[in-house]
Amino acid sequence: MKTVPLYIAGEFVESQTDQWIDVTNPATNEVIARVPCATDAEMQRAISHAAETFKSWKETPVSERARVMMRYQALLKEHHDEIAEILSQETGKTFEDAKGDVWRGIEVVEHAANIPSLMMGETVENVAREVDTYSYTQPLGVCAGITPFNFPAMIPLWMFPMAIACGNTFILKPSEQDPLTPTRLAELFEQAGAPKGVLQVVHGAKAQVDTLLTDPVIKAVSFVGSVPVGRYIYETGTRNMKRVQSFAGAKNHMVIMPDADKQQVINALVGASVGAAGQRCMAISVAVFVGKSQEWIAELKEALAKVRPGAWNDGAAAYGPLISRQAKDRVESLIATGEAQGAKLLLDGRGCMVDGLPDGNWVGPTLFAGVTTDMDVYNEEIFGPVLSCMEVDSLADAIELVNNSPYGNGTSIFTNCGGSARRYQHEIDVGQVGINIPIPVPLPFFSFTGWKGSFYGDQHAYGKQAVRFYTETKTITARWFHSEMDVDANFSINLR
Ligand code: NAD
Repeated sequence: MKTVPLYIAGEFVESQTDQWIDVTNPATNEVIARVPCATDAEMQRAISHAAETFKSWKETPVSERARVMMRYQALLKEHHDEIAEILSQETGKTFEDAKGDVWRGIEVVEHAANIPSLMMGETVENVAREVDTYSYTQPLGVCAGITPFNFPAMIPLWMFPMAIACGNTFILKPSEQDPLTPTRLAELFEQAGAPKGVLQVVHGAKAQVDTLLTDPVIKAVSFVGSVPVGRYIYETGTRNMKRVQSFAGAKNHMVIMPDADKQQVINALVGASVGAAGQRCMAISVAVFVGKSQEWIAELKEALAKVRPGAWNDGAAAYGPLISRQAKDRVESLIATGEAQGAKLLLDGRGCMVDGLPDGNWVGPTLFAGVTTDMDVYNEEIFGPVLSCMEVDSLADAIELVNNSPYGNGTSIFTNCGGSARRYQHEIDVGQVGINIPIPVPLPFFSFTGWKGSFYGDQHAYGKQAVRFYTETKTITARWFHSEMDVDANFSINLR
């Protein structure tokens, strides 16, 4: 059986642990590899090598650090299809969607290659007589990242390229459900010329994460995953005096105004709700129909009924299986609860089968109407191909509904009215807003700005905010003496 190596001090090594977790192909449930839970000694080796390498990496000129990212970008593009194939096999994603997962990561590496201009500080001349002030951004030290299963290329690439380009060293703990893709990313990073020890990849689950959250060497922790774990990471990491950014779960609403283009609305809802089997933190899981637009629900049902899941290399499949049998059981049980609590089940994806793959974690497209805020299908992040329709009378009602949600990752409005769109973008308490765009994930020169219960921390992923997260600002105030200068003893706090 293939085993997933640890990547410590620039070597891919077999773990000495006796605790292993199976990695499965979600389309068949066959075990395709085993991933280790790193031992304490292995975790300590990774941490101490990262600390040791930081001493030389932080002195590496910023333009050299940028060039590693340029070479890495080129290698990732060269191996794009190959990485996507590995990713498809361990997540079940369709090949096109897997390529998208890799591509959105490559874009962050491109951004990290701009690090010299992103790290520029500020200067002001003559803040007092012949005194200048200037600031530098300097790396923190050893940073760590803990990533979820649903984007095994993009989310690790949100983290380590930006942190390392800033001059830090990094320890990645990928999801134990799909560790093969991040391992390939690490191999290519080394091929790109990253010095040994700049990136370490450790594997495991809670115990290994706890080491990263408590070890005093680690200065900052980036996390992406579910709400309960996200809260735990933020609370534990900050209690241990670390800088933490913690991206958590979501429930994203799309508001449909009656003046929107009906066909565009239906296309957007189909793709954004069941794409990637609904396993995206920016998936649309709630459609809020305003006024007469609710008459389109019947056509939405027809469109969704034509969509089917399938194997990663089936070009006609819209999406793949859920990541695990446990995830499938959970989604099916939430569908049952929705029905029991009175939502109208217009399309039922339970019991879905795919020809030739009887053991896959399939769930068909599922559509509820008449959903209300007291139902579990509204309050839980289902993370499956399930869309809940709600009906309201006005834009004001839609805004109130969305603002009452504890989550704030993404939302969108479909309308042809500039006034409605402007009002929505201004009044909505959600960090990423799409106007006639269902999944508004910002490109890396902006930042990924989830709000409320979808994010704990202040500086977000990639963009200028990531540079602030992974650096400290040092401000220097300088005066150079010369013969004509006469500086008396100064007993006040004022600079003069
Ligand atoms: P998860 O929280 O189960 O796991 C995430 C990571 O945390 C994994 O590496 C896992 O090993 C680790 N972990 C799990 N339990 C832990 C514990 N008790 N203590 C410490 N570490 C633990 O999440 P998942 O199921 O892999 O990913 C899906 C979730 O991620 C969804 O809720 C989704 O919305 C969220 N997500 C959020 C964003 C965002 O940007 N907000 C992006 C992608 C995914």
